[in-house]
Amino acid sequence: MSEERRGVYPFCGSCTASSVAWRVNDPAGATGIGRRFYGHTDICENCGSSVRTLYTTFLWIPFAKAGRFRIIPTGGRTYVARKVIDTPIVAVPGEPASAIDAHPELERDPSYRQAESYWEAKEPGQALPFYQAALALRESVLEADDPATLRVRLRVAQGMLATGNYGRSIAWFELVTPQLARVFGAQHELTRSANEGVTGARLMVGGPRSEASLLTDIVAVDTSNLATYDPQLMRDRAALGRALLAGGEITPALEALTASVVDATAALGADHPDTLVYRAALGEACEVGAARTRKRDLPAVEAAQRLLSDEGAPTDK
Ligand SMILES: [Zn+2]
Repeated sequence: MSEERRGVYPFCGSCTASSVAWRVNDPAGATGIGRRFYGHTDICENCGSSVRTLYTTFLWIPFAKAGRFRIIPTGGRTYVARKVIDTPIVAVPGEPASAIDAHPELERDPSYRQAESYWEAKEPGQALPFYQAALALRESVLEADDPATLRVRLRVAQGMLATGNYGRSIAWFELVTPQLARVFGAQHELTRSANEGVTGARLMVGGPRSEASLLTDIVAVDTSNLATYDPQLMRDRAALGRALLAGGEITPALEALTASVVDATAALGADHPDTLVYRAALGEACEVGAARTRKRDLPAVEAAQRLLSDEGAPTDK
């Protein structure tokens, strides 16, 4: 498709070229089985469309991903949509290597064993504190994005979701999903589980405004209870930034994400896997803020852009 194409109204040419026609044939019914779009990424400056993921839902809980769509709202609950042509993702051959083999004490760790046995018994609430203890031990020995660390990080996120701690589970999923995608591959079952988990948590919370309000409360509790450089505070505040961004509150979003980048850089280092995730989120927020070109957000956008370029690539420091 190298030929320059005009778009199919109301989509612009490039959005049309990267998608195929799609007919809405099943508007959400009252049966409890329906479909729901989630996410709001890759906003096009030309036609205003954005990419959203469609899930088949049962009782509003997503259970199957039906693909990604480019959407333009047309008022009320109506929209026009085109299905995004997904570029095939190169499968990661085999499982990534972990440094855990050099640390047999981690596999013998009683916390980890207890956590696994509760998890297998479908007792995620019981498993959670043991996974948290096992994670602290792993992070003291292994890299934050070692495959063996990431597996336990994912379990902590899932355990928080299962126990109704939606805000903090969203914060964990958002941190660990890009790490899982990079280390295991985007199509790996662990990455898919993380995507399913964050979507489920978001549907329970119900929209960016409720999510931002929930995370504002969580960050307030963190701020009064935790040290400045506590990783939980950085993680929750980054999630608050993303929720504010999704709700169109650009300046507060940039402030929250900036705080996480600054603290993570100071406490963990510029090339720590968590710092990289926060930097990427701040960069994305800058792009959204710059694309919106709302005058009152420009100082915050420029300050964040300066922070990202001043600190440069992680290898510069
Ligand atoms: Zn477009």
